[in-house]
Amino acid sequence: MLDGVHVDAMALRLDGKVLARDVEHRLQTLIERRLAETGRPPGLAVLRVGDDPASAVYVANKEKACARIGVASFGDHLPADTPPAQVLQTIERLNANPEVDGILLQLPLPASLDEGPLLMAIDPEKDADGLHTLNLGRLLKGEPGPRSCTPAGVMAMLRSNGIDPAGKRAVVIGRSILVGQPMALMLQAANATVTIAHSRTADLVAHTREADILVVAAGRPEFIGAEHVRPGAAVVDVGIHRKPEGGLCGDVRAAEIESIASALSPVPGGVGPMTVTMLLVNTVVAWCRRHNLGHDLDDLVP
Ligand code: NAD
Repeated sequence: MLDGVHVDAMALRLDGKVLARDVEHRLQTLIERRLAETGRPPGLAVLRVGDDPASAVYVANKEKACARIGVASFGDHLPADTPPAQVLQTIERLNANPEVDGILLQLPLPASLDEGPLLMAIDPEKDADGLHTLNLGRLLKGEPGPRSCTPAGVMAMLRSNGIDPAGKRAVVIGRSILVGQPMALMLQAANATVTIAHSRTADLVAHTREADILVVAAGRPEFIGAEHVRPGAAVVDVGIHRKPEGGLCGDVRAAEIESIASALSPVPGGVGPMTVTMLLVNTVVAWCRRHNLGHDLDDLVP
């Protein structure tokens, strides 16, 4: 059994939607309070290249979230055939713009563009996604900096539900730079004993059955079921997939696990909303840092 979590017939729902709303409210209040000192609102630039249809929805959601809490949007949408030098120029312009605190290059890019050098060109202090090499290094060393949004959102969900990783056994399924690796580092920084499982892990079940906290980020629809979960474990489902028959599902067969786990994040309404919120947290923290102002958001920066 986990601290503060009562193992009942049904798992506690780790509700990312409600938490995202609470955090947005905190951010909005902070912005209102500090606006007179800074003279300008925080600014987030979401840069989109080409016409990936899913990206259009994601970018619109991010811009709506900015508008809700008082963050100014500096979005730019470039055509798919934009030469790399011009994308780079746009990033450099945003780096130099004193009204912009966060920059996000929406992925995937058109096949003609190499994302590596473009992501590296973003000023690390404005790296709203927390994926710049310097910021991943800062996470590794426990130094302050913008944090990768999805795993930071998971940490906030655990914390707000009274699930303290300290001394627990945590298993992360997935070792991507986007989710699995920073997730493992954050859980370790919170004093969990962490195992990373991946596509070449032998006997996955043997590992996952040991987990007090199981974070699933494998990108495989509904592949984790009752056989993988230790009774009383907290399970966080990062996966998100469109079902052929319509609707969304995660990497976890939620119906099987609900009566075994002590806590479970739903899909949709779990990790997804928190990912967007952490983008805002990174932007607002960067805004405070630029103006040498304190903030009360440390609990959201793992
Ligand atoms: P990825 O494909 O880059 O990485 C998947 C990882 O899972 C790999 O490291 C791989 O080794 C591991 N894996 C694959 N099959 C496995 C298996 N059978 N057993 C054990 N490990 C296995 O994916 P990603 O970018 O890390 O994303 C993972 C999932 O999370 C995807 O479904 C993605 O859509 C979702 N995601 C959701 C959000 C959100 O906001 N909710 C954000 C980012 C990613």
